[in-house]
Amino acid sequence: MATTSGMLSVDEARQRILAFFDRLPVERRPLLDGLGQVLAEDIVAPFDVPPLDNTAMDGYAVRAADTTGASESAPVELRVVADLAAGYVHDTAIGPGEAVRIMTGAPMPPGSDAVVPFEETDEPLRGPNQAPKKGATVRILKSAAVHANIRFRAEDVREGTPVIPAGRVLRPSEVGVLASLGLSEVPVYRRPVVAILSTGDEITEPGQPLLPGRIYDSNAHSVAAMVRKCGGIPRLLGIAKDTVEDLTRKLHQGLDADMLVTSAGVSRGDFDVVKDVLAREGAIDFWTVRMKPGKPLAFGAFTAPDGRRVGHLGLPGNPVSSMVSFELFGRPAIFTMLGRSDWERPMVRAITRDRVANTDGRRFFARCIVTKGEDGRWYADLTGPQGSGILTSMSAANGLTVIPEDLPAANPGDEIDVMMLDWEHAP
Ligand code: AMP
Ligand code: MG
Repeated sequence: MATTSGMLSVDEARQRILAFFDRLPVERRPLLDGLGQVLAEDIVAPFDVPPLDNTAMDGYAVRAADTTGASESAPVELRVVADLAAGYVHDTAIGPGEAVRIMTGAPMPPGSDAVVPFEETDEPLRGPNQAPKKGATVRILKSAAVHANIRFRAEDVREGTPVIPAGRVLRPSEVGVLASLGLSEVPVYRRPVVAILSTGDEITEPGQPLLPGRIYDSNAHSVAAMVRKCGGIPRLLGIAKDTVEDLTRKLHQGLDADMLVTSAGVSRGDFDVVKDVLAREGAIDFWTVRMKPGKPLAFGAFTAPDGRRVGHLGLPGNPVSSMVSFELFGRPAIFTMLGRSDWERPMVRAITRDRVANTDGRRFFARCIVTKGEDGRWYADLTGPQGSGILTSMSAANGLTVIPEDLPAANPGDEIDVMMLDWEHAP
């Protein structure tokens, strides 16, 4: 069942697509594997962190009152009753005139209420390997304040309090916090599997010889890379010939995925076999989206053998159109399935140094390079020719201009909006 709708804005097309997708079911993943996924439950601290008062310094656990008035000229002598490493507990209370030699992280012995660091004792003056042994005395050279150098029980997190809320994307710091709570698995929304199919008799798999008139398949690979980069799991279905049989067979191989992406064969007025097969096999709309590059776009759903409806995004064939369309429609769909709503890219206002003409009433996503000028402002330079087949223009760019549909041109010196694709790597 195919319908051919009229012109849609980028936002209308995206709304229709996102309305189809839901976040995927929750799975439990080994902690590290959950990196980049969205937490599905509030995490509440199962115990206090730290679980016991402990020392923040290497030194001597003392009763602060015993050290009152201590100075270099009038040291206080304390008897060392134990030597305590991190990981061990000293559970007999220390009495007046006593100290426990203690290493960072070791729990405070009962009765002690301050830690005197080594540097404020005579230990460093004694020479290597001359630390006071159990039963010997140590000289305290400075009086200690009550609670000095102690990390208190629960000062980081108190048992029963929320630590990380559901909905948070797991970054290295969340992975660390979850590990500190003793969790080895984490409940997250499942990553979507995205099946990717290229179509066209001329398309050749990289690594194979290139026959005359043929081109290599870049779309499947650029799109698969985008899928992976935004948190999905790409599954390459290969290349379908422009025949009903081959296309139908390969499409069906993708129906166990969470989303199906095809490229090429969706142009308006392009009544080729791709459109026919898509229309016959799925419920699909062929849209004309007011954007450049890209314009033809198909969206619909196939019914899998188990009755599940699998969303299908039909990208235009030209390599830049295919990437930009996936960026604007596919990536937000993957985010939605991951349970994320933060798919909007960072936008900067940049001063264009080029003229960007935009005469045909479409939103123009020109490839550009954004850099900071010496005046501290952002500047945008076009990457060069903007043809939708010039894939190296994507490779040269770190952003896409967002020239509104109704703006016939931006001139050098004008401020424009740029959607940043990449902050991490200067091209
Ligand atoms: P079509 O939508 O089939 O008319 O394709 C538009 C243009 O994109 C043609 O020049 C195709 O050769 C090219 N094209 C289609 N599929 C791919 C692909 N997978 N990789 C690179 N170029 C492609
Ligand atoms: Mg074609």
